[in-house]
Amino acid sequence: MTAKKYGGKHNENQLLSDLVNLVRCWNWSYCVNWTAEMVTVALECRTKIVSLISGLCRQYGRLNVSTASIRTDFRLYSSVAASALPRSVRLVEVGPRDGLQNEPMHVPTAVKLEFIDRLAATGLKNIEATSFVSAKWVPQMADHSEVMAGIKRVDGVTYSALTPNLKGFQAAVAAGAMEVAIFGTASESFCMKNANCSIAVSLQRCEAVTIAAREAGIRVRGYVSCVCGCPYEGAIDPKKVAQVSLSLKELGCYEVSLGDTIGIGTPGSWSAVLTEVLQVLPVEELAVHCHDTYGQALPNILTALQAGVSVVDASVGGLGGCPYARGASGNVATEDVVYMLHGLNIHTGVDLEKLVEVSDFICTYLKRPNMSKVSQALLASSSRVSK
Ligand SMILES: [Zn+2]
Repeated sequence: MTAKKYGGKHNENQLLSDLVNLVRCWNWSYCVNWTAEMVTVALECRTKIVSLISGLCRQYGRLNVSTASIRTDFRLYSSVAASALPRSVRLVEVGPRDGLQNEPMHVPTAVKLEFIDRLAATGLKNIEATSFVSAKWVPQMADHSEVMAGIKRVDGVTYSALTPNLKGFQAAVAAGAMEVAIFGTASESFCMKNANCSIAVSLQRCEAVTIAAREAGIRVRGYVSCVCGCPYEGAIDPKKVAQVSLSLKELGCYEVSLGDTIGIGTPGSWSAVLTEVLQVLPVEELAVHCHDTYGQALPNILTALQAGVSVVDASVGGLGGCPYARGASGNVATEDVVYMLHGLNIHTGVDLEKLVEVSDFICTYLKRPNMSKVSQALLASSSRVSK
């Protein structure tokens, strides 16, 4: 629309009716597959157009343009924007594995089993129960077989285990693991320090597990660590994250969980990572695993939800820590995620009150502060009420 075409009073009327038609004809169902970023830009443009038209209508009232239709259309838009968030989210509770393995205090098998059984009673459907790593490296997980075999199984709950190699996989399946997880990383330096090999070699090692899992009919979940940054090499190229995610999918992982291992990410860096990964993996096959080291976990999860991700890893009480930053927060607390999701009207199937009780149980046992703000708030208010 050039100024020349719309010069003069008559043509201003033309401009106005063109704008009205433009807005009326726009079909918001086109934006269903838009990213949250595109929807935001569209919302801003739309606000400007509507206020421009309203202004022109006031100025040229004689044209008799009703803004009611525009407002109706605007409401339709809002519903599209709201539908960008998933209706329900599947939570993967990693407290018994990722959480406890980073806790300095030794936890007896019986306490771990009570912890896992109580988690299952909150409505959580996915619990990563233990890790089949060498006891030499992770002494806390030395009782992995007893833990996996001792769980009182609840129908509909999947109990999984981390299995970094074939030996671990075989032991996990023998103990009754229903699903296993393997690890990839987006950082060469992290891989070298942790596994003493390159990313390519570590993925080759994972293949032995995925081949055996396929034969045994066991589902495999893949983790990518250091997606937003690495303690050794700093920033990580989101393209590298996408590459490793695709490799894990090609190895046979049904889902890839993107891990911000050191909790350094922000909604900005997460958006960049998700944009790249979504080029190679469908959103239904993605999960996010956020640590709260810098207090960014909840906004980061919200960013992922806006991109359509509907699987979130979390650890009750924020158990765990960051082995690279002493005293730092660990995983995002499950109860904080549940509270946010319920506030967004997103279904989780989890009973928040029961979850807070489990959180209190394990944190009291570990004699550690409860890192969940929601637990802190609810426990403080319930002790006030009982006094
Ligand atoms: Zn973690």
